[in-house]
Amino acid sequence: MANRQFKIGIKSKKEIAILRDAGKILALIIQELKCSLKSGMTTKDIDVKSENLMAKYGVVPAFKGYRGFPATVCVSVNEEVVHGIPSEKILKDGDIVSLDAGIIYRDYYSDMAVTVGIGKIGSGLEKLLNVTRESLEDGIHQARVGNRLSDISHAVQKKVETNGFSVVRDFVGHGIGRYLHEDPEIPNFGNPHQGPVLEEGMVFAIEPMVNIGDWRTKILSDGWTVITFDQKPSAHFEHTIVILKKGPEILTQVK
Ligand code: MG
Repeated sequence: MANRQFKIGIKSKKEIAILRDAGKILALIIQELKCSLKSGMTTKDIDVKSENLMAKYGVVPAFKGYRGFPATVCVSVNEEVVHGIPSEKILKDGDIVSLDAGIIYRDYYSDMAVTVGIGKIGSGLEKLLNVTRESLEDGIHQARVGNRLSDISHAVQKKVETNGFSVVRDFVGHGIGRYLHEDPEIPNFGNPHQGPVLEEGMVFAIEPMVNIGDWRTKILSDGWTVITFDQKPSAHFEHTIVILKKGPEILTQVK
């Protein structure tokens, strides 16, 4: 892939204004979903609520129907890394649950993920969630004009590995905006100072997936659900961000 020519879209001020609204709406939806999580509910209940919220805000679910994905939100529990299909699976105290959703607002996409504990979770899981969130923050911090793409990747990997965890290799972040997945791919690992130079107006979905054990994953027979190879827990945090002259701005947040 060394010779691949990236075509990274640069968004105009007008587009960034729409993306800002798209990000804020998604952040509100994720916040409401987070608050609704409790032991005893099914992962399907989360999707029903998600679909209702997207209708309420007048936005289109970006995931439902995407390559045939059947739901508006990916719900991945414990050893599930990403792309969990909502089902009759019941959440219980001590579980960790990753919610990953995308929306389309005025023809523009935003994408966000969080991992949340149900009830009281163990200290190891608490640390996993904190380190994954911090690795995302470190990656975002590198999303600056003049830096190179892999400065983001390297910052994520460094935070994760210095804390004794591993980063998933098989799934990566991506450009976003007019489409859900645009160039470039944004790995969560790699040497610094490689790849394209970052410019104002680039919009990225940065999304570390972090495992307690081995970084390897496998896909279940449903064709979607990704689990850790060693079946140890995994966490996932994601923000859609824009690179501005003054630095990165997180779009998927409630202002
Ligand atoms: Mg994404």
